[in-house]
Amino acid sequence: MLKWIDVVKFASVGNPVPDTRVEKTEAEWKTILSPEAFSITRLKGTERAHSSDMCSFFEPGIYACVCCGTLLFDGDEKFESGTGWPSFTQPVKENAIAYHKDSTFGMVRIEALCNTCDAHLGHVFPDGPKPSGLRYCMNAVALQKVESREKKLTLGGGCFWCTEAVFTLLKGVSKVESGYSGGKIDNPTYREICSGMTGHAEVIEITYNPDEITVEDLLRIHLSTHNPTTLNRQGADTGTQYRSIIFYRSEEEKVAAQNIIAEMQEVYDAPIVTEVKALEQFYKAEDYHQDYYSNNAEAGYCQAVIDPKLQKFKQLFKDKLKA
Ligand SMILES: [Zn+2]
Repeated sequence: MLKWIDVVKFASVGNPVPDTRVEKTEAEWKTILSPEAFSITRLKGTERAHSSDMCSFFEPGIYACVCCGTLLFDGDEKFESGTGWPSFTQPVKENAIAYHKDSTFGMVRIEALCNTCDAHLGHVFPDGPKPSGLRYCMNAVALQKVESREKKLTLGGGCFWCTEAVFTLLKGVSKVESGYSGGKIDNPTYREICSGMTGHAEVIEITYNPDEITVEDLLRIHLSTHNPTTLNRQGADTGTQYRSIIFYRSEEEKVAAQNIIAEMQEVYDAPIVTEVKALEQFYKAEDYHQDYYSNNAEAGYCQAVIDPKLQKFKQLFKDKLKA
C-alpha cells in the first residue's frame, strides 16, 4: 500500500516503471478525445467541482485512464471526500500512477498522471482516510469506468508468506494480498492472530481473470501446494491461524470448492480437513507481510521452507506459470 512518504519519494527521485507505455502526438490525442478530456488530460486542466455524477457513484468496478485505458483505481478504494471530485485512497497498482511536483498557483502540490500515457489526472493529498491516508483527487473527465472481468478468491493454507509466493507466479493472477479472515475481531493485527485466540486464519486474497485461469484450477493448486489433511497445522506451524480453509463468495464457488475437495481426496490417503466457509471480511495484513518472499528471499525461512515448496509447485504446474 502506498503512503504519503512513497508518493513524495516518487515525485522527488523518480517514478516506478510502468507495465507498458503509450505515446501519441497532441494531434493524435485530439482526434480520439473529447475537447474537454483533451484539455484536462493533455493540457493539465481542472474540471469544475461537482460537475460529474461520478462523485456519487460507489458501485463496484474499475476506473481507467480515459486516454489509454490503463486500469488506475478500484471502486473499492473510492470514498466520499466532499470535495466535488471523485476521490480514491489507493491506485490499483504501485506503478499505475506517476507523481510530479507541481508548483503552479504559488503552492507546491503533487500532480498525479497516468504512468502509461502521461495523462494529467489530478493531484494527491495526505489527508485521505486510513490506512493509506492518501486522497487522490481526480478529474472525472480523465477517468472512464470499465466493467471488470476480474474476480477474487480468498484461501488459507498455512503461513501466508508461502501461499502468496506460490499464487503470485500464476498466469491470470494479477494481484495477491496477504491478510486475515474467518475470525471474530475487526481489523486484527499480526500479533493478535498469532495468539490463535482471534479465530482468524492467515489467508491470501487472489485477484484473477477467469478467462485465463479458472476457480477450479486455483482450488486444485491450493489443495496441492499445502497439506489439507493436517488439522490446524502446516509443517512446524501449529494453531488455528494456520488452518486449511476456502472462503466462498457465491453458491457457485461453494459448489466448486466441494467438488474439487472431493476430486483431490483421491490424491490423499488421510481425509481432507479443509474448511469451506462463506467470506465475511478480508483484512489486509500489515505492509511488511506483503510480497514477503520476494522482499526477503535471502531470509532463512524463505530458503528453508518456501524455496522447496516453490520448486515442487513449479514442476507440478509448469503450464500455468507466468512467462
Ligand atoms: Zn493513460
